[in-house]
Amino acid sequence: MSPEQLFGELLGFGLSWRVAECVFSRAEGRVDLQVENTEEFWKMERCPRRGGLPKAYDHTDEVHWNDLHVMQFRCQITARLPRGRCELCNHTWRFRSPWEGKAEGSARISKPLLCF
Ligand SMILES: [Zn+2]
Repeated sequence: MSPEQLFGELLGFGLSWRVAECVFSRAEGRVDLQVENTEEFWKMERCPRRGGLPKAYDHTDEVHWNDLHVMQFRCQITARLPRGRCELCNHTWRFRSPWEGKAEGSARISKPLLCF
């Protein structure tokens, strides 16, 4: 199992998201995870208004989450969050990441540090 697959399993991504790249810097004491949605993502989501299937519209700029830890090392997730457009009603919206707002022990994964 690759480090990317391992972190995807640890974060409980399933089929919708994947860790595209995992970089560990001992000098910086940090693990960086580049995360992206998969093609499967679009089949599993539905429009919040009419329940239609979303089609990929675009992605946000990169967003960073910094308050995770792996052992004693800081862990940063970077992702471009997808926006979809409903094929029934043309509603366009941004998806939340599955790690956004989740509690992990005493740590809490916060909202994105960079807004758009
Ligand atoms: Zn819709």
